[in-house]
Amino acid sequence: MSFDSLGLCPELMSAIATQGYITPTPIQAAAIPAIFEGYDLLAGAQTGTGKTAAFALPIVQMLSQRILKNKIRSPRVLVLVPTRELAAQVSDQMKNYGRRLSLRATMIYGGVNIQAQIERLERGVDIVVATPGRLLDHAERETIDLSRIEFLVLDEADRMLDLGFIDDIKKITEYLPVKRHNLLFSATYSHQIKKLADELLNQPRHIEVARPNIAADAVTQAIYHVERSRKREMLSHLIRKGEWSQVLVFTRTRYGADKLTEELMYDSINASAIHSNKSQSVRTRTLAEFKKGEIRVLVATDVAARGLDIQHLPHVVNFELPQVAEDYVHRIGRTGRAGEEGIALSLVCPAESPRLKAIEELLEYSITVQTVADFPALPVNRGGRLKPKKKNSGHKPKKTTTKSNKAQPKLAKQAKEAPKGKAAQKPSKPRRGKQTSNRGMSQPPTRRGR
Ligand code: AMP
Repeated sequence: MSFDSLGLCPELMSAIATQGYITPTPIQAAAIPAIFEGYDLLAGAQTGTGKTAAFALPIVQMLSQRILKNKIRSPRVLVLVPTRELAAQVSDQMKNYGRRLSLRATMIYGGVNIQAQIERLERGVDIVVATPGRLLDHAERETIDLSRIEFLVLDEADRMLDLGFIDDIKKITEYLPVKRHNLLFSATYSHQIKKLADELLNQPRHIEVARPNIAADAVTQAIYHVERSRKREMLSHLIRKGEWSQVLVFTRTRYGADKLTEELMYDSINASAIHSNKSQSVRTRTLAEFKKGEIRVLVATDVAARGLDIQHLPHVVNFELPQVAEDYVHRIGRTGRAGEEGIALSLVCPAESPRLKAIEELLEYSITVQTVADFPALPVNRGGRLKPKKKNSGHKPKKTTTKSNKAQPKLAKQAKEAPKGKAAQKPSKPRRGKQTSNRGMSQPPTRRGR
């Protein structure tokens, strides 16, 4: 299928060409015609599938074709998103498409001065992309008029529920007209999501471009078992030996993110942290620097990273496994976006075994276990000397590299011996449904063709 057959207007076709999109992604091919036909939508799409354009393109076009009944420019599209970062990304796309059709988009989120938002709303906007809490604030203060909303989009609805926004969403819908076009996008389906869909959507078309709860297909996953106290050392080793250009690293806590950032800097690896304790301006600047390639390692917590769209991000590392198994899927979905391949590695200490089990149960397969080529068996202090090993230090790093996989869709390529003194830079190509048995030491998977 090509974009030509989707009925998009010349202005949007030119925007698509400028972005370099050649063919519609599956969610775009399925959702765009359904939205044009006027259906409510319940869409299950993995992260990075192009779902933003799937709703932004038809909405912008339909909006521009409808004649305004009066001259008041109050919002006609409301997109609710879980985080500020996702708000920024969706509103960028809305602005990009909308500008070509003389539509204005703005972003509403908490943690920043409300006055500037009020002034933008007063100047008149067509599209509002908002996080639920701050939007409700505006609605209650009557600084936004939601009575003319024609389209309601819930983007990453599962995440909004995880973050406890359900009551805010319900309150917001009370400000909206009853007759409206509703679109709900979610990477995973829980009972709660189905309930919300039943309440909000009117005889929706159900679109699913990938099985829910399954990690993005283009991502090669691997696990490294490592003692907790040696995770930082292993991460620095992987980054250096693999000559990784950029990596997004997840920690569970904000404190952990700051601490790891400091340690990486101490290892002379350029790193920055992004989490909700940082001001919005620092988060925006850090993200911009990472996108420009000025920062090599971005250390993030789940909430801050949700919705991050970083083009060509080759590596994601789970420095700690997430508490909630679904977050693993969201985390690794930051790489392998829009048809590119990505690598997601998890550093797992013995205490994290229950979390790993929960993740593998969710994925319905076991993740390949690997060991790192030439990673010292004993801890090395930063002066380069081996540290004496503590007695009864618990977990021993594994010698063999791959455990059997029940049914594993993505496996690292059968590892070759690492070249002496250097971790190989050849990528491990994932293979579906094939067992790997790595003899000898495997190598950190590296990315193809960058
Ligand atoms: P999303 O799932 O909306 O966050 O999009 C993920 C990435 O895919 C973004 O970087 C988009 O710019 C990109 N993208 C969206 N649609 C296409 C397409 N048809 N072809 C190539 N890339 C796309």
